[in-house]
Amino acid sequence: MQKTSRSSQSNESGKADLPSAGLRTAASGTDQSKPASTFSGFGVNPGRIVGPIMLMPPMVHEPAKDEQRVEGTSSEEATAALQNAAKAVQASLRARSVEASGAGREVLEATALMAIDPMLINSAAKLIGEGASAERAIWDAAASVAKMLHGLGGLMAERSTDVLDVRGRIVAELRGVAAPGIPFSDSPYILVAEDLAPADTATLDPSKVLALVTSSGGPQSHTVIIARALGLPAVVAAAGVNALTDGTVVFVDGGAGTVLVNPGIEEENLAKAWIANRANLALFDGTGRLKDGHLVPLLSNVGGASDAVAAAAAGAQGVGLLRTEFCFLDRDTEPTLAEQVQAYRGVFDAFPGKKVVVRTLDAGADKPLPFLTDASEPNPALGVRGYRTHITSPGVLERQLDAIHQASEGTEAQVWVMAPMIATAEEARHFAELCCGAGLTTPGVMVEVPSAALTAESILKHVDFVSLGTNDLTQYAMAADRQLGPLAALNTPWQPAVLRLIQLTVAGARAEGNDKPVGVCGEAAADPALAVVLVGLGVSSLSMTARALSAVAAILASVTLVEAQHLAELALSAPTATDARRLVRDNLPLLNSLGL
Ligand code: PEP
Ligand code: MG
Repeated sequence: MQKTSRSSQSNESGKADLPSAGLRTAASGTDQSKPASTFSGFGVNPGRIVGPIMLMPPMVHEPAKDEQRVEGTSSEEATAALQNAAKAVQASLRARSVEASGAGREVLEATALMAIDPMLINSAAKLIGEGASAERAIWDAAASVAKMLHGLGGLMAERSTDVLDVRGRIVAELRGVAAPGIPFSDSPYILVAEDLAPADTATLDPSKVLALVTSSGGPQSHTVIIARALGLPAVVAAAGVNALTDGTVVFVDGGAGTVLVNPGIEEENLAKAWIANRANLALFDGTGRLKDGHLVPLLSNVGGASDAVAAAAAGAQGVGLLRTEFCFLDRDTEPTLAEQVQAYRGVFDAFPGKKVVVRTLDAGADKPLPFLTDASEPNPALGVRGYRTHITSPGVLERQLDAIHQASEGTEAQVWVMAPMIATAEEARHFAELCCGAGLTTPGVMVEVPSAALTAESILKHVDFVSLGTNDLTQYAMAADRQLGPLAALNTPWQPAVLRLIQLTVAGARAEGNDKPVGVCGEAAADPALAVVLVGLGVSSLSMTARALSAVAAILASVTLVEAQHLAELALSAPTATDARRLVRDNLPLLNSLGL
């Protein structure tokens, strides 16, 4: 934990005239008599906000394996307690579903029904009859029901998550502790959690949650993806922040990565300025360019057709990364040709006349696909992942390339294709051959393994472009799992070693002579300050979540190419990642005035 104290900068004269309900709550809750203290973490989505926190209750822990009914409690009494707890959970989920809308409402309604599901309650009652405590019985009964649903596949498999969700809630009710999951509040709040899971997205109400702060979770964790998709300021790995109490007023700075307790008038003004600027930042005119007119196409990363439609509406100049594995994450079997064609065409149709870079399935590590990956690998991130799955599952890659080609026919999108996890020029040659065989004319590869960065020149003899996957390039260069909060300081693309690998990749492309495009599609492209450095290093296009387009465009437009090159040199010469980031940010004052 990095926690520092400083004297409050509050102004005696009182509260500012604040523009939003969240800020008003914050100002009135600020205790000017207490000293301020700061928690430092990693800023993963810029933005400044003041507000009261709500803590996400801790996960419900599994009852002891041999937990029995307490002596003196009959099985009838324990079963009745279980039924009452289940009904209470159902009632609270129903009440919340009335407040929710859209997908969140559907999830809550389905989960409420699951809480009193007769199959679930009856099998738990049976276990209680055999001597188990009510908590242990519902735990085991839910595990069996979830396994059975998962085995059925398709929509039924998705319900297995609901069963596990209600299990935690029923156990919490039986224990008399707060229910797990996103807390519910009528007024806006800053959510403080250990970390968030993808499933939390459904119940997170963006009209109530002002910002996200986690005590754990790395810069590539799900919290970051959720925060960026919803446009919420976010700080991760702020160790110790979960020791604060509900209602504590804090200032979150998602650019600086800090959480200040008991903020003063200065922070309130910074938050007001950010809220005012946010409206301007929502606009991207559809052309990424520097101050001197140098063009830097800004594209979007998408996981399917609906993302692509949203990205096109946000002005994206094309798709720099279609993560095709996201179309099939719930599949136990290889998608058919027709299913694939439909999934890819939805994306192509959103970008007529524009570039769409399709990445072949990046299965493995944190994105296992049962039909391609082996769950028992000891080191999945170093295992049969991405392009390498063609070794263990021959034919899947060829069939995917056929599907991409078929989907591209009759659309106006310019379809480029790239392979993930390429480590050698030989692999790039093989991939290019497969693309050619499938009738795909623009093959490329991702540079996310350090060996590919070091051999970019040889690789580019075989393919037409490369795209730097800075998330994995960082994890592999620094030998630091990208999901882990404790390794967050290692896992940043500002690391000198990562910047050097990017520089070497560009140098390799230039040495090859044809100036073949070097794009970036990792999260580094979404960091406005780093985007300037990337352009200064010679990167030709940037691809990011659609929400980041306007902020990146605004900062790029504030520098010339010569200035960007100077900032890139400054970053390269810095001894540490922290120094590199600080030096560059200090030279881009617009970041601060826009609250980025
Ligand atoms: C990357 O590694 O930077 C990347 C874009 O791929 P993914 O995050 O899907 O692994
Ligand atoms: Mg990757």
